[in-house]
Amino acid sequence: MSAAFLVSRPSVARAILAPSQGPGPLRVLRTATGRVEEIPLEEYVAAVLPGEIGGHAPAAALEAQAVAARSYALARRARHADEGADLCDAVHCQVYRGLSAATEETRAASAATEGLVLVQNGRIIAAPFHAVCGGKTARPRDVWDDEENPDLMPVEDDACRDASGFSWSFSIPRRELPHLAAALGFPVARFLEIYGRDDTGRVSMLRFAAPGGASRVVRGFEFRKAASEIWGWASVRSTAFEIAESRPEYLLTGHGTGHGAGMCQAGAIARARRGESRDEILGLYYKGAQVERLRP
Ligand SMILES: [Zn+2]
Ligand SMILES: [Zn+2]
Repeated sequence: MSAAFLVSRPSVARAILAPSQGPGPLRVLRTATGRVEEIPLEEYVAAVLPGEIGGHAPAAALEAQAVAARSYALARRARHADEGADLCDAVHCQVYRGLSAATEETRAASAATEGLVLVQNGRIIAAPFHAVCGGKTARPRDVWDDEENPDLMPVEDDACRDASGFSWSFSIPRRELPHLAAALGFPVARFLEIYGRDDTGRVSMLRFAAPGGASRVVRGFEFRKAASEIWGWASVRSTAFEIAESRPEYLLTGHGTGHGAGMCQAGAIARARRGESRDEILGLYYKGAQVERLRP
């Protein structure tokens, strides 16, 4: 395999791609069949965009998503090594439904950004993105535990204000609370409260309590994941919420949809529509990373 697929700064290049990780085709595990398909990187990028941001989003948003998707794929390439693949075709990695999913627009976005990746500290980053930030993006390290999280600054964003999913509410009936808490290992819970927020205002910790005084503190993202597994993704849409307690229920009212880190896709689409460029969009949502070009 070629050892020479480098970015423009040679000192950075060595750190980004070891020779064994050359830029050749991605090996994608098809989860339905268990087969591994080899797909050229740029064709892969064109084919995953429809599942991530839609096949017909405006060009600057598609191009920004193409840079993010390419970066994510390359940064996460070791994920399925045990199965003889780089990535799987499911949400776990990036949703890939076959080359025929690509549209004319997504192929154009891939071509226009060929080889562009987001880099920080000499490494391609697993560039995060989400549906709607709800007014401010999150810090990656606040939304997952992963030592490879890029260090991206939270940014204010009003561009997603008109998106569906900017505001939401969800009621958890009191009688359902033990069910949710059981999924988090504390089935005796009868009470719930917010126990901590990160400096962007997202809920970082919640506390479940039981009548005898026992309690259990859980992380905000664990709470959202457990709720999503029980009631679906449109229940607790983000960790940016308040809780109002009443006799029958805990009423959550919040902003945004998704983890909130990195690029806000609704914001990127709105910005593209009002004339912002791909580089302006990437520069905002990936503040702290740089765009660089892989080259043979
Ligand atoms: Zn995967
Ligand atoms: Zn936003």
